[in-house]
Amino acid sequence: MNLRELSLQLKACHIPRRLEVPLAGYTWLEVGGPADVFVEPRMAIEAATALRLAAEHGAPVLVLGRGTNLLIGDGGFRGMALHLGPSFDDGRVVVEGRGCIAAAGVRLSKLLERLAVVGLGGLEDLYGIPGSLGGALAMNAGAYGSAIWPRVGWIELALPVGRVVMVDAAKIEYGYRSVKLPPGAVVTGARLRLERSDPRELLDRHHELTADREGKHPLAFPNCGSVFKNPSRYNTAARMIEACGLKGRSVGGAKISEKHANFMVNTGGASAADFRALIELVRDCVEKEHGLSLCTEVRLAGEFTTDENDLDDADDGGEVRDGGSA
Ligand SMILES: Cc1cc2nc3c(=O)[nH]c(=O)nc-3n(C[C@H](O)[C@H](O)[C@H](O)COP(=O)(O)OP(=O)(O)OC[C@H]3O[C@@H](n4cnc5c(N)ncnc54)[C@H](O)[C@@H]3O)c2cc1C
Repeated sequence: MNLRELSLQLKACHIPRRLEVPLAGYTWLEVGGPADVFVEPRMAIEAATALRLAAEHGAPVLVLGRGTNLLIGDGGFRGMALHLGPSFDDGRVVVEGRGCIAAAGVRLSKLLERLAVVGLGGLEDLYGIPGSLGGALAMNAGAYGSAIWPRVGWIELALPVGRVVMVDAAKIEYGYRSVKLPPGAVVTGARLRLERSDPRELLDRHHELTADREGKHPLAFPNCGSVFKNPSRYNTAARMIEACGLKGRSVGGAKISEKHANFMVNTGGASAADFRALIELVRDCVEKEHGLSLCTEVRLAGEFTTDENDLDDADDGGEVRDGGSA
């Protein structure tokens, strides 16, 4: 990996880039060391060019949306972090007929508010998920029995060969919190297929969901949403963790929420290693008590201080279409 040459070529292509950028500020858990190279492309073709240059110089790539589902190691990320920043953010939405086209950096809930005002529904149950549209598409985000992918018409992708393509949603396989995007692709935009709905009812639903989430989730502390995938709709990770008596258990500054057992919170000064150790502790207990190995929903990236490498968010084949939990 030739990072110096990569950095020079990014500069020559006028792609905004910085070096040794701490990633803790880009994740909701507020942990994570620096990325060697950090780029914030302003348009899809810049993202594709940055991906091509990274591929040519053998640099691994970490895509950052709003960082609401990411645990990045304290040792940081060796390679190029690509953040879809302000240029892909909230202004970039076009409503047309029963659909909308939006840039991948748009906050999902902001997008849903705009759609509600013009009477377009179908994704209202996802209101309150704090990630970006791109992150939601990469994860097949969902809640209350709904998920985003059944509502996608097409997506725009930046590819590591340096091209930007539009792909029909029918060509993309997805499952419960998993999506098979082409290798190395970054989602830069999408068209969503919606339906006519009453704006008042949509906004009422948003308020209902906000109250429900505020009641259930430990939102006063930095967190990453559900840490583990639900083994099934009825057998939730939270229930199993609670049955192990783990609510309130901590490692360093990382703690299993007393409010929701599938949430871990940063009580102040936690390290990524604390979260990783707590994840491991939960998996061990659940395996002993329930004979079942939990898969992480949170995505782990970068260098951790331990040598354990068995926590990858292994694609579990999408055996459950949507776990339905929020
Ligand atoms: C309080 C709270 C509640 C939550 N509730 C829910 C919920 O109910 N349902 C749910 O599904 N999730 C939930 N989440 C998790 C999270 O918000 C979603 O997974 C969200 O879709 C992630 O979006 P993001 O932009 O933050 O992605 P990030 O966290 O930045 O990235 C997540 C993954 O997607 C990849 N990625 C991000 N953007 C792109 C892109 N443009 N192209 C390609 N890959 C990309 C990243 O590399 C990473 O692997 C919750 C999180 C929190 C903190």
